[in-house]
Amino acid sequence: MPNATDIKILIVDDDTFMLKILTKMLNNQGLESVESCDNGSDALAKIDDTDTCPDLILLDLNMPNMDGIEFVRYLVERKYQGSLILVSGEDERMLKTAEKLVHAHKIPMLGYLHKPVSPDKLAAIIQKWKPPEEPHLLQPETKVYSAQMLQSAISNHELINYYQPKVRVATGDVIGVETLVRWHHPTDGLVMPDRFIHIAEKGGLINDLTCLVLKQALAQAKIWHESGQVLRVAINVSMDNLASLDFQDLVVNLAIENGVSPQSIVLEVTESQLMGADTRVPLEILTRLRLKRFHLSIDDFGTGHSSMAQLRDIPFDELKIDQGFVHHAWADETLRAMYDASLSMAKQLGMEVVAEGVADLDDWTFLRQTGCDFAQGNFISKPLQADDFMKWMEDWQGRIDDGLVVDSD
Ligand code: C2E
Ligand code: CA
Ligand code: CA
Repeated sequence: MPNATDIKILIVDDDTFMLKILTKMLNNQGLESVESCDNGSDALAKIDDTDTCPDLILLDLNMPNMDGIEFVRYLVERKYQGSLILVSGEDERMLKTAEKLVHAHKIPMLGYLHKPVSPDKLAAIIQKWKPPEEPHLLQPETKVYSAQMLQSAISNHELINYYQPKVRVATGDVIGVETLVRWHHPTDGLVMPDRFIHIAEKGGLINDLTCLVLKQALAQAKIWHESGQVLRVAINVSMDNLASLDFQDLVVNLAIENGVSPQSIVLEVTESQLMGADTRVPLEILTRLRLKRFHLSIDDFGTGHSSMAQLRDIPFDELKIDQGFVHHAWADETLRAMYDASLSMAKQLGMEVVAEGVADLDDWTFLRQTGCDFAQGNFISKPLQADDFMKWMEDWQGRIDDGLVVDSD
């Protein structure tokens, strides 16, 4: 177990004066391994490198380009195993809300510090630091793949589509599936998308990856349609896919080749990826696909900042409330407020709403009471391979027959 004074600490704050003060305070407390970054991108580069990945991050919430909340999202994507302390000049309520968000993402958070930071409070929080549990079990998770490895995985068709059902809350009807890609790695087993999508994006492979996912998904949609299952098939589209007008031709041509109508294809675009970038070309592509009757869905709604602007600019048909605001929302005022606001805004804009991350019966009951249209989550089904889908449909029908959509009161 590392000695507390050996903890590798990274401070992320756009205020370089603050970086100096905090570094000095930590040094005075005997903590020598302290690095600092004045922006989120540089900090993520350190986290991606096993030599510089910190055990503990002191994170400023308010930073001009990538703010603290967005930064936390990238930590989650990377399955960051260390701990976090939030530092901010914001009021108590803001810090508490941010803390809840971090908890919802299951990142160990030691606490939060108000600016100006007092050395005693800092020392007291650092005292709480513990090394991550059972690090040996986490080893395979930390293996980093190169773009070249991923390229050969794409060529060798090691990327396999899984499908997670979306059901209508009022009736339990299965209306569609979301395609979620996994890597069937020849030696490492099942590798989840959080560990390779960003590598595909950075390594210029995302078009190849999406093309493979889309081809498999549309071939599967055709099989389902031919067997009488009219399912809408959703695909996750990366912002980088929307950088070139070729993408639209790819989607249109594959739909025609497989005889799948655009109305049965949903393109899920993550809102946080839409922010900040030049949105003109993506906007044109999305609008043209929408004109051709493809369905557009705004994914992970509520996790970014320009949610409203995206809703104004892009003609989405569907809004997916992020799982962080769904699971356990029935018991948490803050989550509930965000869930309610997202739901009512979507309804007013005439959009259909999918709640993600429906993990247990309490979540399901909450959706039924609040009038959400569709639900997706492990309570209904984990993502499945296509071969297991029919068996699941039978089990699900059994659960419906046993009273899942009957009101208890
Ligand atoms: P997402 O689009 O938000 O997908 C939902 C994620 O939530 C999936 O994780 C799903 O397995 C997980 N999930 C579903 N129900 C529950 C639940 O009840 N509890 C919890 N805790 N989690 C649940 P997964 O499959 O690991 O995918 C992670 C992300 O990777 C996706 O998030 C999506 O952004 C990205 N992704 C997956 N496939 C693709 C793809 O083909 N292309 C692109 N660009 N991104 C993809
Ligand atoms: Ca999605
Ligand atoms: Ca999502």
